[in-house]
Amino acid sequence: MKKNKILVTGVAGYIGGTFAYEVLKMGFKVYGVDSFINSNRNNIDIFFKNFPRDFNFLEIDLANDILELKKVFDEFKPDFIVHFAGLKSVSESQEKPDLYMANNVGSTRNLLENMNSETFFIFSSSATVYGNNPNQPLTEDSPIEATSVYGMSKIECENLIKDYAFNKGVKSICLRYFNPVGSHQEFVVVEDYLNQPDNLMPKLIECVKNGKNTINVYGSDYKTKDGTGERDYIHIIDLVEGHIAAIDKVQKIENIDFFNLGTGQSTSVVELISTFNKTNEQNIKINYVDRRLGDVAICYSNPLKAHNELNWQAKLSLERMCKDSWEAVQK
Ligand code: NAD
Repeated sequence: MKKNKILVTGVAGYIGGTFAYEVLKMGFKVYGVDSFINSNRNNIDIFFKNFPRDFNFLEIDLANDILELKKVFDEFKPDFIVHFAGLKSVSESQEKPDLYMANNVGSTRNLLENMNSETFFIFSSSATVYGNNPNQPLTEDSPIEATSVYGMSKIECENLIKDYAFNKGVKSICLRYFNPVGSHQEFVVVEDYLNQPDNLMPKLIECVKNGKNTINVYGSDYKTKDGTGERDYIHIIDLVEGHIAAIDKVQKIENIDFFNLGTGQSTSVVELISTFNKTNEQNIKINYVDRRLGDVAICYSNPLKAHNELNWQAKLSLERMCKDSWEAVQK
């Protein structure tokens, strides 16, 4: 029988919402869960309206509502769990370490506890697990090191998943995202800012929305092409396609695998701001301030393993990422 039931955690969020919309369009059945700790009901209402037969939802906190979660598994019997739910702000994680560890690791453990060798697991990991590594670009074999509590929580989740893959036969893929930006063109799921955004694109959008014409850039003395941090920005649509490739792949692996999802292009903060200005006819100026704790100088991917083994490659340009990010907010 075709496997087509996906439990999507963090379904009200930026990446989980965009992924859910795409797989619902493809004919998958989706059971979404979310606690709304960093989102709201908007996306959920849209899913119910557009996909009344194939979408279901329950508001639960995965780290704490253990009985409700078990009911979801018993009732829905998912084939795949795609686990996006998590708190993701590096700076907030330093302020609230206990919350980040309990929420991110607890949620992952509770999901894994309900799984068996018939269910497949896809996890939203992050390039943050590579820490501050001078050897760039990063491959999946690069050393793992936490430079923040957020990073530590992702590493602990990956280790837990490894445990369940080897000891309980839960076939799993950890996808290490680089810097997702942009928006879906039809269904606009924008990043929500309930918790202070850390990332450059949401901050740029905030600037334009609030009529400010300067943005703080943290650090101008990194050993990079122009002194500002370099990152690997990837369009959300490419990122979601990487998950669809992973759903296919996870059914064929032995126990666990890890893939970078990035473009392989390194873009500085200055380059991103200038592309954003040019593409969207804006004139945001830079105000240099001190470096931020936990930020690394350069972080970009070697995406070859995903090209070769997932048959996936990021296609959309930096201009398109900037254009879609701003258009989504205007809509
Ligand atoms: P998001 O905040 O938009 O979405 C996450 C969703 O998870 C939110 O709707 C939130 O309410 C929900 N959630 C959090 N804890 C929960 C819990 N205990 N129970 C139920 N729901 C809970 O974030 P996003 O950008 O969509 O990120 C999705 C995943 O990707 C996260 O795990 C994040 O760490 C990871 N990631 C994101 C980025 C990025 O830049 N956006 C980069 C690398 C990795």
